Amino acid sequence: MTILITGGAGFIGSHLVDHLLNETNHRIRVLDDFSTGDATNLEHLDTDRLEVHTGDIRNAKTVSAAAEDVDFIYHLAAAVGVQNVVDNPLESLRINLRGTENVLEAAHADNIPTFIASSSEVYGKSEDLPFSETDDRVIGPTTVTRWGYTTAKATDEFLALSYHRKHDLPIVIGRYFNIVGPRQTGEYGMVIPTFVEQALTGEPLTVYGDGTQTRSFTHVADAVQVTHELLETPDAHGEVFNVGAPNPTSINDLAERVLEMTGSDSQISHVPFEEAFDENFEEPDRREPDVSKLESVLGWAPETDLDRILADVIEARSETRPGVT
Ligand code: NAD
Repeated sequence: MTILITGGAGFIGSHLVDHLLNETNHRIRVLDDFSTGDATNLEHLDTDRLEVHTGDIRNAKTVSAAAEDVDFIYHLAAAVGVQNVVDNPLESLRINLRGTENVLEAAHADNIPTFIASSSEVYGKSEDLPFSETDDRVIGPTTVTRWGYTTAKATDEFLALSYHRKHDLPIVIGRYFNIVGPRQTGEYGMVIPTFVEQALTGEPLTVYGDGTQTRSFTHVADAVQVTHELLETPDAHGEVFNVGAPNPTSINDLAERVLEMTGSDSQISHVPFEEAFDENFEEPDRREPDVSKLESVLGWAPETDLDRILADVIEARSETRPGVT
């Protein structure tokens, strides 16, 4: 079998490549434009079962060529990260809308089962915790740029579900909740790699807002295991699943834990959201998945072990910055 992973040079995508190479005998084809992904995420892999295509998912011909003769598609390529989306709104929308439509069209041409990576951002600023897949979404106005990402991801879900309903295309949608682990970059606003880097270099840890906002963090190893199992479970096809671990942590507690685990004497510095982004910026206060649907279909769901996540991230960062502990 051959598997196509769009965004396979990225953070989650490269862990999915590792996982599928380890757990299956399949050949893996990666399609990535290396915009936020990095060749170093794949450089440890020395196997003829991996082929890497450099290309842009906005180009329909590129996508259909990459999907030729594949048996499964994992669609992870996207413009990701709040900072990235706020800085490049038009490009982000095009990648996340046109790119996904190209992938679904290529999948439909050969009826290829396809996983679509969505996001907990789809719930917007809903306060109805924990979030269940059929809950109402609460989204801010179109004048606030950050809501473009959630709107594009939700439209991707509508598209995928419509291909399923109209053409019986076997799709499954996973809404990732703050997936973290080694190889994630802090460059686009991700909190754990940012805090760990700041702690290891003695810089202040920048907490946006008052730090009481909570997030549910999920180890990338669990996320790729769930992703693999969902696409290979026919009962999951045509469905949407939260992919995350419950047990939310406040950003203040996270910062304290990073300081403890790194032994850093960095300070914690609170920065108003309007200063970090722009005056219209809005940030959802709390995020927590209801994982009962995932548990009922797979028989398990990830559990948060924040210390294990932090230990893995700290170890990986220390390896790339020897001498800095
Ligand atoms: P990432 O930025 O590391 O991965 C995205 C990959 O897509 C990168 O390798 C990038 O180079 C590639 N890419 C971007 N634009 C492309 C284009 N036009 N053509 C081809 N490739 C392109 O981010 P990630 O965290 O690994 O995210 C993977 C997926 O998971 C994304 O769809 C993202 O929206 C979703 N997601 C991630 C999280 C999280 O916590 N990391 C949360 C919610 C949703």
